[in-house]
Amino acid sequence: MATFRDGLSDLTRTGSEAPFAPGSGPEVYIETYGCQMNVYDSQVIEGLLKRGGFRLGDNDLGADIILLNTCSVRDLAEHKVISRVGDLRHRRLKADLPQPVIGICGCMAERLGKKLRKGPRRVDLVVGVDSYDTLPDILHELTSARGVVVPETLRTRTGFSNDALYVAPPALYPTNNSHLVTIHKGCDYKCTYCIVPYTRGPQSEKDPDSILAEIRGIVAGGGREITLLGQNVTAYRWTDDLDFAGLLERVVEVEGLERIRFLTGHPRDMHPHLMDTIGRLEKICPWLHLPVQSGSDRILRRMKRLYTSGEYLDMVEYARRAIPDVTFSADIIVGFPGETESDFQDTLEVVRRVKYDQLFSFKYSERPGVPAARLADDIPVEEKKRRLAELMKVQEDTWAGEAAGQVGEIWTVVAEGKARRPAGSWRLRTPNNRKVVLHDASLEIGQQVKVRITGSTNTTFVGELLA
Ligand code: SAM
Ligand code: SF4
Repeated sequence: MATFRDGLSDLTRTGSEAPFAPGSGPEVYIETYGCQMNVYDSQVIEGLLKRGGFRLGDNDLGADIILLNTCSVRDLAEHKVISRVGDLRHRRLKADLPQPVIGICGCMAERLGKKLRKGPRRVDLVVGVDSYDTLPDILHELTSARGVVVPETLRTRTGFSNDALYVAPPALYPTNNSHLVTIHKGCDYKCTYCIVPYTRGPQSEKDPDSILAEIRGIVAGGGREITLLGQNVTAYRWTDDLDFAGLLERVVEVEGLERIRFLTGHPRDMHPHLMDTIGRLEKICPWLHLPVQSGSDRILRRMKRLYTSGEYLDMVEYARRAIPDVTFSADIIVGFPGETESDFQDTLEVVRRVKYDQLFSFKYSERPGVPAARLADDIPVEEKKRRLAELMKVQEDTWAGEAAGQVGEIWTVVAEGKARRPAGSWRLRTPNNRKVVLHDASLEIGQQVKVRITGSTNTTFVGELLA
């Protein structure tokens, strides 16, 4: 298995083994579903294909090859992709154009494998998370060898490999002006509801020198902010002497880098030493995304989350003392098997007490083969919907009080880009991840300015520029 641990530049130029001369290969269009890790993986795929001579397109109708980089976390996410395959085929038929090669990459590829090669919405190839380096060759076969039968074994590439740690070429226009840097793959936690350990395999770390080289490359290209990515970045451990706190200590040393964010942390790994480190190092943004999932100890045990709500709240208190201006966001699942009204009320209580800046809340979705699938999915869908709506209302009300208290505050913010509307307005973000819109501003991406907060809508603040 090829790895690109030392190969940042290898992914950005055409290697001699490239199946096509630079820029002369077929056009590929990539559509990304799911989390930020998939966004990074799509960058990896782009890098590999560009190096292989393929051209990257920005629409499905013009492409020779369409790759869907997919998510399996919830049932709905998978359904969307399957119906998108049908939609893509139909669009070609309607436009009287030849059918493209369609491939499914990522978590669905790993979970469903060969099944995706069957039925009316079958795809031409299936490539799991650790097999992206096989893409240039198989796509070459599928597009050049018209009429030649490509063996089934080449069309479905899945299975885990500890050293399949890729380094993506830096994004030209990174999301929120923050360059993604995946620091490890997989997950060794086994939360009972979650498919990720089965679709992304065991946790395996990218080595710190590669991570630092990748970040230096981003800074050399003009990037000033990064987001360290992983299913559980806080569980990063290269050696007994280098854990996530140690990695942060090394990353802050990169000259020219101004801000470091990270996603996602596991509450269980938020040790005082890590929180002290985050609080002490100025370049580390004071924003913690720490999914609580539930506020009921009974449900947390059934989810195998390895903390109680009391421990979670203690950790939040500690973080508030250790990290100046820290803000929190979280994921919550409602309607986990056996969740009673009283369990749900415990969740609402945690939301009221933490006062999250942002919540990502989901109805429980049973995933085949995970431990929780052995429990009856006994909360009716209507009740899940009701709980979700109530949770969102509690979050909105709690947040509205918090947001109103910020009017008049003066914040330092970084410009991320022009806002879609109103015309002439700009999107900016604070180090602790609060979004601010400025009307009638004239800024540059990455510019740091001071603003006074004048109001807010939902999770976005409105401000005025201070001279
Ligand atoms: N690693 C992160 C963590 O520990 O929380 C998150 C990973 S998961 C891809 C993102 C979120 O999806 C989870 O935090 C959880 O709230 C949600 N999720 C995962 N499995 C789910 C399921 N079966 N049903 C509903 N939501 C789910
Ligand atoms: Fe899934 Fe739990 Fe791992 Fe997060 S920590 S990816 S929720 S198993």
